[in-house]
Amino acid sequence: MYAPRDVRVEDRPAPEIINPTDAVIRLAATCVCGSDLWDYRGINPVTQPTPMGHEYAGVVLEVGAEVTLVKPGQFVIGSFFASDGTCPNCRAGYPSSCVHREFVGGCQAEAVRVPLADGTLVATPAPPDPRHIPSLLALSDVMSTGWWAAIAAEVTPRSAVAVVGDGAVGLCGVIAARELGAGRIIVMSRHQPRQKLALEFGATDIVTDRGDDGAAAVREMTEGVGADAVLECVGTPESMQQALHSARPGGNVGFVGVPHGVQVNGAELFYSHAGLRGGPAPARRFLPDLIDRVLDGRIDPGKVFDLTLPLEEAAEAYRAMDQRRAVKVLLQP
Ligand SMILES: [Zn+2]
Repeated sequence: MYAPRDVRVEDRPAPEIINPTDAVIRLAATCVCGSDLWDYRGINPVTQPTPMGHEYAGVVLEVGAEVTLVKPGQFVIGSFFASDGTCPNCRAGYPSSCVHREFVGGCQAEAVRVPLADGTLVATPAPPDPRHIPSLLALSDVMSTGWWAAIAAEVTPRSAVAVVGDGAVGLCGVIAARELGAGRIIVMSRHQPRQKLALEFGATDIVTDRGDDGAAAVREMTEGVGADAVLECVGTPESMQQALHSARPGGNVGFVGVPHGVQVNGAELFYSHAGLRGGPAPARRFLPDLIDRVLDGRIDPGKVFDLTLPLEEAAEAYRAMDQRRAVKVLLQP
């Protein structure tokens, strides 16, 4: 990305092993993230040409001398934050706060270098059927992030869940809530194709009102008090407010939309009795379980990709998502 709305596909040097803990993988598929749009729209500054993309799945080409768990030829998925898997934060289940974490960027490419390969990458038991690749790719970020929203909001069997945001992460949050046994899953969405996918993924109700009207609609559906668990999957002041106002006293909000301008009112939070937990998904924690769920056919988060383009057409992928013509675009290297 050279500047907002200026995405180009160019030849760059092939990634190489730099540290003995690195791996280089050839991407089977990659994609554009909703969070890439913050840069595309000029909300995050882009000051120099920047390789984009942080979602990846593919085959290991080469590993560094100290890599022992990952082998060339394996099909692997990893998180957008590389992690060592051994530090106190990793051991506590927060690999995305690993003390040695490194962001894995430049994944909208044919190949990428992944640092800390042993702690970061998870291999599938065998080369996957090509039909599973979109869903395996989704685990790299959106599905893990939706899962984290549901875990952070403490979704349990029988929970009434409200999902704020009908983008790919919100839709994956619906999958997570269903897998965790939620009794009711209310999705806030105004977009018919996204509503349809949400219902397919397990949503039980759709709310089209926004803001406090949306929160009031959730309360009406939940004995007047609000949802047990709310998944905030957008990151704007409005969506956070809507999420907090949709939770019942004692309920929890899991917030995974990267906040832009969000302020939380301490007194309001205090009196709401709501719990608030979020942050970048500890995706690596969830990968082994989510890989099993994809390969068993229990979840199919790859359905969030409603447009597939060759990598060369990355600029069009950004345009399609910016203009909401596509929920999420898969790029085929
Ligand atoms: Zn660590």
